[in-house]
Amino acid sequence: MGLQPSDGTANWVASTRVRVKVVGAGIAGLATAHLLARLGHDVEILDSAASAPEEGTALALQPNGLAVLEALGVAGELDAASSRMRQLRVFDGLGRAITTTVVPDFGPGLDHVLVAPRADVVRVLAAAGPVAVRWGADVGHAGPGLLDVQEGHDRSTVTADLIVGADGASSTVRRCFDLGVRRRGGRRYLRMMLERPLAHARAGEYWTRSGLAGMLPCGPARTYAYATATQEIVDAHASGADVAEAIGRAHPILAALLPRSLPSDRVLVNDVSTVDCRSFVGPGVVLVGDAAHAMAPNLGQGANSGLLDAAILTLELAQGDDLGSALERYDAQRQAVRRVQRDAERLARAAHSRGPREARNALARALGRLPVAGVLRRAQQCEPDELRARLSAALG
Ligand SMILES: Cc1cc2nc3c(=O)[nH]c(=O)nc-3n(C[C@H](O)[C@H](O)[C@H](O)COP(=O)(O)OP(=O)(O)OC[C@H]3O[C@@H](n4cnc5c(N)ncnc54)[C@H](O)[C@@H]3O)c2cc1C
Repeated sequence: MGLQPSDGTANWVASTRVRVKVVGAGIAGLATAHLLARLGHDVEILDSAASAPEEGTALALQPNGLAVLEALGVAGELDAASSRMRQLRVFDGLGRAITTTVVPDFGPGLDHVLVAPRADVVRVLAAAGPVAVRWGADVGHAGPGLLDVQEGHDRSTVTADLIVGADGASSTVRRCFDLGVRRRGGRRYLRMMLERPLAHARAGEYWTRSGLAGMLPCGPARTYAYATATQEIVDAHASGADVAEAIGRAHPILAALLPRSLPSDRVLVNDVSTVDCRSFVGPGVVLVGDAAHAMAPNLGQGANSGLLDAAILTLELAQGDDLGSALERYDAQRQAVRRVQRDAERLARAAHSRGPREARNALARALGRLPVAGVLRRAQQCEPDELRARLSAALG
């Protein structure tokens, strides 16, 4: 594989390791870093956080994301503390099923959604290769081939042939390049891990007058719950109060699972924003994950799409022609994520419509002529088993 100088204009220089700086050690950044390192490139990750986050919620990994984790050889390590879902169900506020979707079978081991502790996903990804994370390294500015980095009182400039912006929805890297970005605020959601088992029969998402509330088993003894954060919940959470009552009032379907006391620091409340970029690449720079395409969480494709970004970037760089061409092909291929962003937004709107009949009508409108299984298939943006095979072959 050759190397193109960082201004992205000159010809290819033969057989050189590309010096890659990945900004952001989230799921997208870690996967990108380890995959590119396995191709033989010289990779370093910088992250402004002091250390790896210990976020205690969960994540639904779909076949596209699982295919990438399998190619990295780490998917199996998640099994013990996770749950496999072969059906995804949506109920109305009265507990009546609106829709049941069987996860399409994309090949061996790719016929389910894996509900996994987020911290475990980050841990196995961080250990998936030799790339170290430079914690406490805050990137304040990026330009072609250059990053300004603040570490404590020290300020330095680091150089790279390729900068990977994996720094999340409010990406600094994205801001420093002219990539035509539109960012919109979205809804607020809460997430929490509850120390109670959940029977698969009750698992699913409930669309109610307060928005949505979901509960999924995560391993044999825990339940991952998420819900629309109503203003009352946001206020209680912001004041540091116990949030059990506010959550139970807004989402009675979760009430039986909640402990009597639930300190606000055990509940994560997030504003979710959407990012639309004109392009995911610029001179010597590429965006992956939420930095490129943050989306409504309703299709469960944010992190999965970030894993897919990492895989496609790796496959394009593995072709061994010039860096500029590889980035252009990556950009063209990743346009598929825009449709997933739109589908996720439509589902978000349907889930927040009022009343059972409206919910059904909104779902029908949201999905158009495609059944939910079709939307789920389209959300993969690839044939997951083919992706796994190509990636495994590229990594040798
Ligand atoms: C309620 C909810 C439920 C969700 N459920 C799912 C799901 O089931 N499945 C799914 O696939 N996705 C889900 N998502 C989406 C998923 O969480 C995100 O898409 C994913 O975590 C984004 O990962 P990332 O690596 O792109 O960015 P991030 O996780 O945001 O990581 C960015 C990293 O960059 C670092 N950083 C930021 N700025 C700088 C800087 N200037 N210098 C250096 N470092 C910097 C940060 O410290 C951070 O570590 C959900 C989201 C929400 C809100």
